[in-house]
Amino acid sequence: MEYNQRDIYIYILIMIKMPSKKTLTLILIVITLIIIAPVVLRYTIIETLGNYRVKNNGRKILLIYTGGTIGMVESSQGYVPKKHFLEKKLKTFLQMYPKDYTSIIADYDIHEMDPLLDSSNMTPEDWNKIISSIENNYGKYEAFIVIHGTDTMAYSSSAVSFAFENLTKPIIFTGSQIPLARVRNDGHLNLITSMILASNFDIPEVLLVFNNQILRGNRTSKISSNKLNAFESPNFPELGAFAYDKMPRISDSLIRGSGFRTTVATKFNIEHKVVVIWLTPGIDFNTFRSIFLSDPTVKGLVLMTYGIGDGPTSNKQFIAFLSFLKERDIVVINKSQCIEGKVDQGDYQTGDLLRSNGVISGVDMTTEATYCKLVYLFSVYGNNTSMIRSMIDTNIRGELSLKGTEKEFAISNL
Ligand code: ASP
Repeated sequence: MEYNQRDIYIYILIMIKMPSKKTLTLILIVITLIIIAPVVLRYTIIETLGNYRVKNNGRKILLIYTGGTIGMVESSQGYVPKKHFLEKKLKTFLQMYPKDYTSIIADYDIHEMDPLLDSSNMTPEDWNKIISSIENNYGKYEAFIVIHGTDTMAYSSSAVSFAFENLTKPIIFTGSQIPLARVRNDGHLNLITSMILASNFDIPEVLLVFNNQILRGNRTSKISSNKLNAFESPNFPELGAFAYDKMPRISDSLIRGSGFRTTVATKFNIEHKVVVIWLTPGIDFNTFRSIFLSDPTVKGLVLMTYGIGDGPTSNKQFIAFLSFLKERDIVVINKSQCIEGKVDQGDYQTGDLLRSNGVISGVDMTTEATYCKLVYLFSVYGNNTSMIRSMIDTNIRGELSLKGTEKEFAISNL
């Protein structure tokens, strides 16, 4: 039987007017397919290519340039960031390899922050600007690269990782030790490796790419002021690395899955302040009381202890200081001064005293992640200090290793 156009229109009109049970079911199936198709497609592609690999054509990435050595030029007062310099440099060196680059680097846009900052000048306000920039463009781009100074990059990458709950797209932090303005520099490599990663891999994590390493952002610390291998992830393996091949190797079993929940971005507020105190032998604890007495908005403390999380428990001032903090409901995290390893407050009597005074273990978090997590928890939960305390040693963004999990790195490497 043949239908002409008129018959089809009439049929559609009848369907619209009187949807039968069958038609309704059909409509429901079509709507469901439309909704789940992108998810199915995304995971099928990832599975086919493996290791979170995706096709780069049609993909768009956003470079958010915040400042840092990478785009600095020499001035009479030393290196300073220069507007549009990085954008021009990037264009020039990509044009040197037109064929090669278009096959491995997706379409990109650059958003330059104003003013460009040396990252030593960054504050939580600047973290919020980065968060807004990603949030406002989340639907338009498949991946984000935050070009940042190295000095506080581990803080910003930790902060942004906490800010985005249920992240579904890569956010990659990078920068360099030597500016692009110098003939021999590490900026070129770091920028290109980050762009290759953003263009070809859909890793739903906040990452830090530096000197060929792909690290989880909230696991990193800047460990050298001048070596090109400036960042380390002391308590968690690298998530991947670049070597001779064009594409990196990715340890896909270490990547945190994104799940199917909606991505939520939280901004930081510093209504509740957090301070860090570094223990030294013979330290006078009375000096620190004034911090809390003079400013009641100081509500959190990262206590930098010795070894596995020990403090001078035979020092009466210290015991009095701990009860002073407890009385004032100050949230105290025990973070070891050691870069590697974890805090275990049950190991020695010197650590046990901290626990009995309400101090919570920072487990194996970096100092940067510990500080940012506490500021984040105060931003979300405000005065609800019992909630904040319960979240500190809970793994929320892959920032700490839980006892007994297969990913517990620090312990398995003892
Ligand atoms: N002072 C610079 C900054 O953090 C250092 C760098 O980028 O390497 O912005």
